[in-house]
Amino acid sequence: MSRIASVLLPMRLPEAFDYAEPEGMDLAVGDQVAAPLGPRLLRGVVVGLREAAGGNRPLKPVEAKLDDLPLPLTTLEFIDWAARYSVDAPGQPLAIALRGARAPKAKPEKVVEPTGAAPARSTPAREKVLAAAAGARLSPADLARAAGVSAGVVKGLIDEGVLAVRLVETLPQFPAPDLARPGPALNDSQAAAAEILADAVRARGFNVTLLDGVTGSGKTEVYLEAVAAALAADPEAQVLVMLPEIALTQAVIARFTARFDAAPAEWHSDVAPPARRRVWEGVASGRCRIVVGARSALFLPFKKLALIIVDEEHDTSYKQEEGFIYQARDLAVVRGKIEGASVILASATPSLETLRNAEAGRYRWLKLGARHGVAELPDVELVDLRETPPETGRWLSPPLVRAMRETLARGEQTLLFLNRRGYAPLVLCKACGERMCAPDTDSWLVEHRYSGRLVCHLTGFSMPKPDKCPHCGAKDSLVSIGPGVERVEEEARALFPDARVAVFSSDTMFDAREARRLVEAMEGGEIDILVATQAAAKGHNFPMLTLVGVVDADLGLRGGDLRAGERTYQLLAQATGRAGRHDRPGRALLQTYAPEHPVMQALKAQDRDDFLAAEMAEREISGLPPFGRLGAVILSGEDPAQLEAFARAMAQAAPNAEGVEVYGPADAPLALVRGRRRKRFLVRADRNVDLSAYLAAWRARVKPPAAIRMTIDIDPYSFL
Ligand SMILES: [Zn+2]
Repeated sequence: MSRIASVLLPMRLPEAFDYAEPEGMDLAVGDQVAAPLGPRLLRGVVVGLREAAGGNRPLKPVEAKLDDLPLPLTTLEFIDWAARYSVDAPGQPLAIALRGARAPKAKPEKVVEPTGAAPARSTPAREKVLAAAAGARLSPADLARAAGVSAGVVKGLIDEGVLAVRLVETLPQFPAPDLARPGPALNDSQAAAAEILADAVRARGFNVTLLDGVTGSGKTEVYLEAVAAALAADPEAQVLVMLPEIALTQAVIARFTARFDAAPAEWHSDVAPPARRRVWEGVASGRCRIVVGARSALFLPFKKLALIIVDEEHDTSYKQEEGFIYQARDLAVVRGKIEGASVILASATPSLETLRNAEAGRYRWLKLGARHGVAELPDVELVDLRETPPETGRWLSPPLVRAMRETLARGEQTLLFLNRRGYAPLVLCKACGERMCAPDTDSWLVEHRYSGRLVCHLTGFSMPKPDKCPHCGAKDSLVSIGPGVERVEEEARALFPDARVAVFSSDTMFDAREARRLVEAMEGGEIDILVATQAAAKGHNFPMLTLVGVVDADLGLRGGDLRAGERTYQLLAQATGRAGRHDRPGRALLQTYAPEHPVMQALKAQDRDDFLAAEMAEREISGLPPFGRLGAVILSGEDPAQLEAFARAMAQAAPNAEGVEVYGPADAPLALVRGRRRKRFLVRADRNVDLSAYLAAWRARVKPPAAIRMTIDIDPYSFL
């Protein structure tokens, strides 16, 4: 009897396809195979096997079973769950899971080593080569360069047998962690928390803990002890640590390396493909026991995942908003459940969703006490911009400038925080009043002085800044409105010409290495004033930083989306928490036009509980997350009439269900993007409603024309 293999392909197809299993191939669920689709051969994964019933039409056979490691059953289950939850095709998360398996293998590199044989004759050039070869493993060309001689000298020594060429792997090796090393000294609060976490990990089985502690309370030290316990309890156990920013990775890796005398594997977009493949194989084979990575690391094929840590769990960058849409923190909890693993969510400003779960007893809640080594949080002062405004065309108020001057005089550091990239968020013509927008889009163009361009942050469109108005033709009439980080940097340089000023934003740093260099320069005291977007508000430890100035504390409050207040509170609490660690007291100055706003008052009082209580009450009344569920359906198309008609038809087709309300169709707040018009439905549901199933049922009732795109976003964060 022959068998049929169901093969899932890593693309947006509604389901797995059936293929015949060739005689003797002996497939198993999870195997990677090559399968034909039309004229192409694709890598896919076997997700089911069954006996073929007679009489069916013949199926195409699986082309080949690949040599690569199979995906564990729990990984397949997770992929399936994630796709169903996100109301998307299972091939989408599978594509993320296979990213490492599809990456090219590394080619071994040639290095030269001394064989111990003495050269037939000795020359100064040959001596230099042998000295350089003794210290490092270099390629023949690099060795010649290091010794300052011609390539011929090195070749001569190789030909003579004094040096030998060897092929080596330069990729990470995943050394075993040293579990005998003692951990750092913990204070009582940390030691108690570490013990509870270690017990939870040793008990095995799924459980979730919120590790809740102010900035600097030593959360990392505490969860490192849970990692040690997990690895010690089971020689095959694996641990995943998720971080919101690549810029944070190196600091965390350094702490793991110091703790276990072995570098963990790294997984994010900056990891080169051959190293990625290596990590993928290390994870699938179980050799690699600790992975530190970005949200996509959640889809790696762990053989025996025992512990997942989501650091800075409140961070909005855990939400993936393009392609396969998911919230990595929420999916981490699901993966933990499927794997029977412990999950630790760590934050100084936990999300409302997580706090609600902790309050309701679904998560264990561990609170860490006083800051490590310091008694007090920084002083937070509100600067009322109505009373002490900056000079015209400036953004730093007199009280903030004064504080910066004092800080500089003491040889300490200032962080100016503005969550807005570029030079100016808006450029308009003072002759005709026209705002510069991207073509086909409603969003404003942001001026970038580093590149001399106007950039649309939504679509990536950019153009050189024109010297005359494209609308009325007036010359030199374009003016920059409002501040971005680049403009604040310019102002800081003008105010303090002798200070060393730097900018930290995604436009001025192109990769993780550059981000790391800047963080190190700040740690080493080589920067006096750092102007930064939100990237710098995350987890770094700058010992000489004692002043944080928040240039526009009102910015988040004007966003008008569900999480605006929460996000502002989190960002500001993290930014002010940066100041004055170790033995120097810190100060934070928040510039605001609305000092009476509850978010500002809660920040000033540093009263997180007051802020959260008010915010929770508002959400509960309106049945919004975490008290209800929210989903968005976004339709886009180029033809307004066709889009309008389809949106109306879709509204008609919405299933009736108890506890579900459908709002819309409305123009999306940015109704025009890349020449496509956008309409949006918002769906609110009670907590006990399966919103994913509702949206899947709704989608099944309609058939959009080919020119209309439909995107479903469960628990939307961005209301663009
Ligand atoms: Zn004009």
